[in-house]
Amino acid sequence: MITKIDPLLVDNFRLIIQSSGFSIVVPHINPDGDAIGACLALNGLLQNMGHKSSVVIPNEFPDFLQWMDGVEGVIDFEKSPDEAKRLFSEADTLFCLDFNDFERSEGMKELLSSFAGKKVLVDHHPGPIANCDLLISYPSISSTCELLFRLVEEAGFLDYLDKNCADAIFTGMMTDTGNFSYNASDPETYHIIAKLLEKGIDKDQIHSNVYHTFSEDRWRLIGHSLKDKMVILPEFRTGYISLSKKELDQFHFQPGDTEGLVNYPLSVKGVVFCALFMEKDDLVKLSFRSKGNFSTNDFSRKHFNGGGHINASGGSIKIPLEEAVALFERLLPEYKQALLNCQ
Ligand code: 5GP
Ligand code: MN
Repeated sequence: MITKIDPLLVDNFRLIIQSSGFSIVVPHINPDGDAIGACLALNGLLQNMGHKSSVVIPNEFPDFLQWMDGVEGVIDFEKSPDEAKRLFSEADTLFCLDFNDFERSEGMKELLSSFAGKKVLVDHHPGPIANCDLLISYPSISSTCELLFRLVEEAGFLDYLDKNCADAIFTGMMTDTGNFSYNASDPETYHIIAKLLEKGIDKDQIHSNVYHTFSEDRWRLIGHSLKDKMVILPEFRTGYISLSKKELDQFHFQPGDTEGLVNYPLSVKGVVFCALFMEKDDLVKLSFRSKGNFSTNDFSRKHFNGGGHINASGGSIKIPLEEAVALFERLLPEYKQALLNCQ
C-alpha cells in the first residue's frame, strides 16, 4: 500500500521546526531501534540546522544500539531526573517519537503532559490519544523512522540530514520490519533506502552492528528458551515462551537480550499467534506477535493493559507469572475460531 503524507501536516512540521529554539526529543519506555533511531536522527537534523536540541529517554536502551552517533549526549530520565526536568523547563518545543500516548513514556508522563511549549507527535501506532499541537500519525507506515524521513524530505530539510542521521533512520526502518521481512511492501520504503545509501550509510555494517553483537549469555538464553520453554498449542495455532526472573538472572539478562525472541514460535508451521512472558519485579511483561488478520493489539488492550499494532503489541499484568500464563491459555478458546480462520 502506498501512503501519502498530508501536505498541511508537512507545512506545520516545517513551521514548528523553523520557529523552534530549543527542542527536546523523547521516545517511548524501553526504547527500541525505531524509537532511538528516530530521536537521534531528528536531534541531529535540528542541530545541523543550527537549533538547540536534546534527546531525553524514559529509561536505558539496548547495547546493540550503543554504536549510534549521538548516544553520548542522550539523557536517561531514570538516571538523571533532575537534569531531564531542567531541560524540560528550558525547552520551547517537544517532539514525541514512536508512541501514541503519554502513558507510554511511563515516569516521564507528567513532564510531557505539563510541558508548556509546542508539542509534536510523530508516530505509527494506531489510535493516538496524546494531547499535542501537531499530531502526525500514520499507522500504515512501518516505522517512525520512515515517516520522519518522509516529513523531513517533504519539508525541504533533506540537505540537513547527514550520514549519521541516515544511519539512525535506516536502523529504525530495519528493526521495525524485522530486517524488511514484514510490513515492508511499500515501494516508497525502498526509494528511501536508496536515498539513505546516497547519504553514505553502510547498510551491511548497520546490520552487523545490530544483529551480530550478541553476548554469549544472550545466545544461551535463546537456546534455553527454544529448547526448554517454547510451548506450541497446534489446536489454537498459538505458541508462547515464558521466562521467570530466576531464568533471566541465570543468563545475566540485559535490556535487548530478548529482542526478537517472541517471534520464534511464528516460524513453526501453522502457528499464527505467539506470546513472550517475562517476569519482572512486580509484574509480568508480555509481547505478542501474529500473522495475517489476527489483531494482537485488540487482544493485549482487552486482557493485558497494552496496545501496539495489529501484528505486534505488548502489555503487562500484575499477577504471578504462572497465573499470567494460565490466563493466556484460558483466553485462547474464545479466540479459537479467529485463530483457525486467520490468514
Ligand atoms: P515489544 O513486544 O517489542 O515490546 O512491543 C511491540 C509493540 O507493542 C511496540 O509497538 C510497542 O510500542 C507496543 N507495546 C509494547 N508494550 C506495550 C504496553 O505495555 N502498552 C502499549 N500500549 N503498547 C505496548
Ligand atoms: Mn516503531
